[in-house]
Amino acid sequence: MPEPLFAAIEAGGTKFVCALGTAEGELLDVVRIPTRDPTATVAAAMDYFDHAARKFTAPQALGIASFGPLELDARSPRYGRFLRTPKAGWSDFDLVTPFARRLGVPVALDTDVNAAALAECAWGAGRGLDSLVYVTVGTGIGGGVVANDRALHGLLHPEIGHLRPRRHPDDRDFGGVCPYHGDCFEGLASGPALVARLGGELGDAPESHPVWAMEADYLGQLCAQLALAVSPQRIVLGGGVMQHARLFPALRTRAQHWLGGYLARSQVEEDIDAYIVMPGLGERSGILGALRLAAALHASRSDIETIREL
Ligand code: ZN
Repeated sequence: MPEPLFAAIEAGGTKFVCALGTAEGELLDVVRIPTRDPTATVAAAMDYFDHAARKFTAPQALGIASFGPLELDARSPRYGRFLRTPKAGWSDFDLVTPFARRLGVPVALDTDVNAAALAECAWGAGRGLDSLVYVTVGTGIGGGVVANDRALHGLLHPEIGHLRPRRHPDDRDFGGVCPYHGDCFEGLASGPALVARLGGELGDAPESHPVWAMEADYLGQLCAQLALAVSPQRIVLGGGVMQHARLFPALRTRAQHWLGGYLARSQVEEDIDAYIVMPGLGERSGILGALRLAAALHASRSDIETIREL
């Protein structure tokens, strides 16, 4: 019997990445569709999967890793819908039902960062672990949490970018860019916050610019808060801002500073280079996370059917 294939979508604000792959994380085919209004974007993605199913074989399940916020409580009648989002036309849009109907397969949905955390845990920087936090620092700051091999949901899903740091002493005058909170982590340490302070693009800022020391301090605080609140076995930091080479060593030192020796006999003190790390999957963690969601849903359904047959 041929290996079952799974469909995957990484739904982003500027593009939808669609792919077909295996349960082992091998991507056979990948396309990028520009994000337009929801109806047109979803129609283009469905056309792709029709084409891909003819070229390869029909997928057994679909995983969607999406921007949010999303209703992820399967008991809610609004499951699969976007909550209020500033992205025009997408609030209240149902991302699950159209695909489930057209493709005729079960659909798993999670946030892009929860999916990325699952993929990094399975195949990337957290291989062999069962708990991990994945943080992306780019146009915003988002984080996904894996605990006991499962992505964390609850009231909604984690929104760690909106926790609050203590202000850096040289950063008293900047109000922050978050429309909800001003000076939360996203408001002070996302890409747009850096650009607002610099008055220009990130690439133009010299290594010695004080903004980098502030950035390292804020990201170190975020890692320290995550280590205390969630106790992950590893923290993975990705996204465009993390491409800046000097950030990792500096923020690791600041994370230790903010922990004040409190986790003294743990990896945070003994080997922090292996505790706060870069993604192992590069920019593919989102789409691979979607693939992981689909394969996991298929496996859980197969288990249920096996039990029924017994
Ligand atoms: Zn905020």
